Amino acid sequence: MKVHEYQAKEILRSFGVTTPRGIACFSVDEAVKAAESLGGSVWVVKAQIHAGGRGKGGGVKVARSPAEVKDWAGRILGMQLVTHQTGPEGQKVRRLLVEEGADIRKELYLGLVVDRVTQQVCVMASSEGGMDIEEVAANTPDRIHKVYVDPDAGLSDTEADDLSRKIGIPDASVSQARTILQALYRAFWETDASLAEINPLVLTGDGRVIALDAKMNFDSNALYRHPDIVAMRDLDEEDPAEIEASKFDLSYISLDGNIGCLVNGAGLAMATMDTIKLYGGSPANFLDVGGGATAEKVTEAFKIMLRNPNLKAILVNIFGGIMKCDTIAEGVVAAARDVRLSVPLVVRMKGTNEDIGKRILADSGLPIITANNMAEAAERVVAATRG
Ligand code: ADP
Ligand code: MG
Repeated sequence: MKVHEYQAKEILRSFGVTTPRGIACFSVDEAVKAAESLGGSVWVVKAQIHAGGRGKGGGVKVARSPAEVKDWAGRILGMQLVTHQTGPEGQKVRRLLVEEGADIRKELYLGLVVDRVTQQVCVMASSEGGMDIEEVAANTPDRIHKVYVDPDAGLSDTEADDLSRKIGIPDASVSQARTILQALYRAFWETDASLAEINPLVLTGDGRVIALDAKMNFDSNALYRHPDIVAMRDLDEEDPAEIEASKFDLSYISLDGNIGCLVNGAGLAMATMDTIKLYGGSPANFLDVGGGATAEKVTEAFKIMLRNPNLKAILVNIFGGIMKCDTIAEGVVAAARDVRLSVPLVVRMKGTNEDIGKRILADSGLPIITANNMAEAAERVVAATRG
């Protein structure tokens, strides 16, 4: 699960990470009031969307008077912000963060992720922070320093201070940086985060170290332990089809192709998408209906896939194990009738009660294209998209 920058900063502050003072706003009026209540003479108006690259996309602007705050807030709120992380359609801005402007001497980078190889949290730091960290990682990876943290000990003083020196934090500011690094590590650990990033972490003109941006993602399997974080969920930032699917306990991810996939089991769903690709097609979604799919669940799955205007055909690929092929066949037939299926449907099923399942499909009178194996199924569904 993702949260907005202002929410990530709230969490980080509660662990002791220093950030600029700021106020989240939902209207231009609120933005002006926020600037007035923050005081000072420089503010930054920041679009809040679940994507990075906002600065380059025109979603982060400096204002030098409340009138300028008003102007920028009016332009940014409601805009369709396009960044390298949103895709060409962009994301609508519904919230702003109005923050005090920082006097930036140097922009640095901090990032924490779970490293699957070492099974430890990896803390990454670089002197080359700011808006081009992706290029630093690609062209000069040696400028990104890493520490793999012992989960029992946590991030030690020595590790933190070594990292700070490597990224050019002056001696006078090393103890402040240590506080931030250790607080960030604890925040990551205690919230079951899967990613935490401060880019930029800045060194100010007067030698302070502060987190100017913040991004946190959380492990959805651990959210039951964090109702306060769940409360931060912003459904406007999520794909409507994925939200709908989650209500029916379907694992669904929207993709940009035109072949809908309905599969049981995540591994088989991945293999199905690969096979479609192999035959020159492109999947419209990942969908795992799980082990205990009922006719109702299958119907909902069809409805969700059919909402996609790009959909040209559907491939149902089922391995009947715990879930029997006849149950799925009944579900598919009921769903196809219920939604008055208007695109070609290819079904491949193997396993328990396969024969009964195939008979149900054949007797349904529906124009279902059957296939005996995955290659045949993929070939037929790709052909179907081409008419
Ligand atoms: P994004 O990573 O989405 O582009 P950031 O929050 O990192 O958004 O903002 C982009 C840039 O804007 C930062 O690298 C920094 O230079 C500047 N910036 C952001 N917040 C502030 C602030 N409070 N004061 C001064 N400059 C800021
Ligand atoms: Mg940033």
